[in-house]
Amino acid sequence: MENATPGEGREGWERRRIWPSFKRVKIAVAKETREGESRVAMVPELVGKLTALGYDVAVEPGAGRHALIADEEFAEAGALLDPDAVVEADVVVSVQPLDPSTIRRLRRGASVISFLPTNAEQATVVELRDAGITAHAVELIPRISRAQSMDALSSQALVSGYRCAIVAAGMLRRFFPLNMTAAGTVKAAEVVVLGAGVAGLQAIATSKRLGAIVRAYDVRAAAAEEIRSMGAKSIDLDLDTLEGAGGYAREMTEDRAARQRELLTPFIAAADALITTAAVPGRQAPMLVTREMVEQMKPGSVVVDLAAETGGNVEGSVAGEVVRIGNAQVWGGRNVPSQMPGPASKLYAQNVLNLVTLMTTRDEDGNGVFAPDFADEIVSGSCVTHDGAIVHEATREAVEGPPDAPADVLPAADPSAEPAAPEAPTEAATADEQLDLPYDQEADQ
Ligand code: NAD
Repeated sequence: MENATPGEGREGWERRRIWPSFKRVKIAVAKETREGESRVAMVPELVGKLTALGYDVAVEPGAGRHALIADEEFAEAGALLDPDAVVEADVVVSVQPLDPSTIRRLRRGASVISFLPTNAEQATVVELRDAGITAHAVELIPRISRAQSMDALSSQALVSGYRCAIVAAGMLRRFFPLNMTAAGTVKAAEVVVLGAGVAGLQAIATSKRLGAIVRAYDVRAAAAEEIRSMGAKSIDLDLDTLEGAGGYAREMTEDRAARQRELLTPFIAAADALITTAAVPGRQAPMLVTREMVEQMKPGSVVVDLAAETGGNVEGSVAGEVVRIGNAQVWGGRNVPSQMPGPASKLYAQNVLNLVTLMTTRDEDGNGVFAPDFADEIVSGSCVTHDGAIVHEATREAVEGPPDAPADVLPAADPSAEPAAPEAPTEAATADEQLDLPYDQEADQ
């Protein structure tokens, strides 16, 4: 592929805005436009894998800037830098859904791959349908073994779980590990983690590595063993486990939720840091910790609520903000993977590459042909719009109504049809703001 050489400088990259080949399928990497989004859907080290598959790759200039990836790195990897990359592209990859003005610039029949929370993004889904775009939502990829390498929910949850533990350690004004010194012994911090899925287990592992005493609880039966395998203590509440379909958690009855809160109270009161990561697919995050429970925590305690964007596991937590409840500072996560944009982008890009690879065949010249096989459950399961129609059933019903409803009647979305949708951000609390770990002197008094 023809590209500017590093010596030509920025003008060199930008002058070449013509795709080098008419024959090869074109993949464009969009520059993210949503506030607070620092990730990018492709990284330079994987561009070569796409070109080896037989694709041409173009990147919107500045796409990697917030993930500290320079345009020059993409160009050196073989990508074209082009402000109009998406216009002629056959496939556009992004982290967040494309905005309506970008969707309207796409070629009819083009494909897009991104996160697309269909409940919260119904207007985007309609734009994609009307523009004749084939949209694949990575969060709808079935979580089967074969799709693990494409599972962006897991890869980003891993980043979030790590970040949660680091935030808790950074906000807590004491050691995580035990310190035995000539000047005396400082006890290890006690950390409680609620929810031991991908993010929770990573939060447990990271807190353990930092030397904290970690206790964790999850409603799934299998979780106790997983918690112990991380070196943490599994909290046994002597309650029924809530294993749902596919090994995921089921929703609790209000009675069980109340009993769980009551039994967890002494563990939370004794903790220096509480990290909550619980979710139930298709539902708002379960409320596991009330204000009263937080108010029983010690002075200087820290609460990190990863579920703040989807309703919160902790009553009173606010996504993107730190609020004071009783003696505790409560950090509400907002787009947490974006706070570590380098590794989050790398993992997401690998997920995207694996999905694109699944959707690729080769023509007689060995060029990659983007030919998704809709008989494959990964392809069909992740597809939201195709050929002018919404093909994801729950989304179609939410947007267009039941099959026999009049076309002009658009019923409200069914909140149980899809994973709980993040609230649209009201006030700008950027990822950078959340990087500044606050310190409330009074909380330590
Ligand atoms: P998730 O994000 O849906 O939920 C996070 C955790 O919260 C889960 O472990 C859940 O059991 C827990 N939880 C829900 N309600 C709770 C409550 N009231 N109290 C305490 N905890 C509660 O989960 P996840 O990270 O997607 O993972 C769920 C399971 O699926 C894990 O066992 C994971 O290893 C597995 N998984 C499998 C695949 C695959 O096979 N491809 C992919 C991803 C995850």
